[in-house]
Amino acid sequence: MQVDVLIIGQGICGTMLSWFLHKEGKSFALIDNANPMTSSKVAAGIINPVTGRRYVTTWMIEDVMPFAKGVYEEISSYLDTTLIQPKSVIDFFPSPQMLNAIVERVKEDDTYLHPFPDQNHFNQYFNYDFGCGEIKPAYIVHFASLLTTWRKILIEKKVLLERDFLLQELEVNIDSVQYNDIKAAKIVFCEGIIGTENPWFNLLPFAPNKGEALIIECEGLTNEHIFKRGLTLAPLSTPHYFWVGSNYQWEFSDDQPSEAFYKSTTQHLTNWLRKPYKVLEHKAAIRPATLERRPFVGFHPYFPNIGILNGMGTKGASLAPYFANQLAQHIVHGLPIAADADVKRFSRILSRQ
Ligand SMILES: Cc1cc2nc3c(=O)[nH]c(=O)nc-3n(C[C@H](O)[C@H](O)[C@H](O)COP(=O)(O)OP(=O)(O)OC[C@H]3O[C@@H](n4cnc5c(N)ncnc54)[C@H](O)[C@@H]3O)c2cc1C
Repeated sequence: MQVDVLIIGQGICGTMLSWFLHKEGKSFALIDNANPMTSSKVAAGIINPVTGRRYVTTWMIEDVMPFAKGVYEEISSYLDTTLIQPKSVIDFFPSPQMLNAIVERVKEDDTYLHPFPDQNHFNQYFNYDFGCGEIKPAYIVHFASLLTTWRKILIEKKVLLERDFLLQELEVNIDSVQYNDIKAAKIVFCEGIIGTENPWFNLLPFAPNKGEALIIECEGLTNEHIFKRGLTLAPLSTPHYFWVGSNYQWEFSDDQPSEAFYKSTTQHLTNWLRKPYKVLEHKAAIRPATLERRPFVGFHPYFPNIGILNGMGTKGASLAPYFANQLAQHIVHGLPIAADADVKRFSRILSRQ
């Protein structure tokens, strides 16, 4: 098989890159080992325009959020399934001070943060003492549906190989790569956290971050919003199913679900939620985060046919569509990649490989 691009990994990055190459009429093949506990399979898929307790506007959100929305809507109609839904985030304040701080913050800038008109509206669902605010627009992207539905199409098109990619079987030539019977002009690694072991890119400043989540069933809870109070509770595409998470662990000894997370999360939920719930699943994965919180996009400065799309950190749902498109446009039309995402900013570090 001869293709323009060989993609390694079908998480949100590999999915998006293959989508844009497909739109450009370029040929590609994908290798993915169907690992059930990857970042994209554990993620909630939330696009939230503000970050943290101080509601700082997320990096590049004015560009990446509308772009991502358009892309998910386009893929939704192509696949005839709903992949993205607008869901505002209801943020319950932890203290009266926080409530006052928000009132002041909204006076300065109400682009994404809004007062919620009826402060008692959620009393039937949650215990909360200090009111709530609303963050919008915000979205939930159904990663599980996207990944599985797109995968079916890739399998039908006979371009997805479900297996481990084995580095020792890759031959890198000056103007192409050869992997078993696949000859490709370029290879792009979309391996998520496994990218930290990639011999061409392992010197990049990755900052792996472990996160866990529970999937719960809660019959009585509304699915109209995403809710936050320390934890985030987000509706899934299956009726009455919700995602609950997460934690951010910079130090960890394994990638497995932990008893400590299970205990603290169920305790928190029991205090917060006023409806009965049942835990269905407990998941964990390592986010491919980076030290400077910017993605790794583009081609190796010294191996021009070896590329990467990785380092989406906690923001894969919003960043992956935007930067996959930039990479596809770069491959097909030679257009530039944003300087603070282009992996060439690490030319000195990568020269040590
Ligand atoms: C608990 C948690 C919650 C999150 N919530 C959100 C959220 O709400 N919103 C948001 O935007 N982001 C969220 N994220 C972050 C988001 O999940 C990541 O940014 C994104 O999924 C990374 O996608 P990826 O394609 O780079 O990597 P991955 O999803 O890890 O995909 C890599 C793929 O490559 C395959 N692969 C790797 N090596 C090989 C090999 N050698 N051979 C074959 N296949 C291989 C893997 O099996 C996998 O399928 C969350 C992450 C976690 C852990």
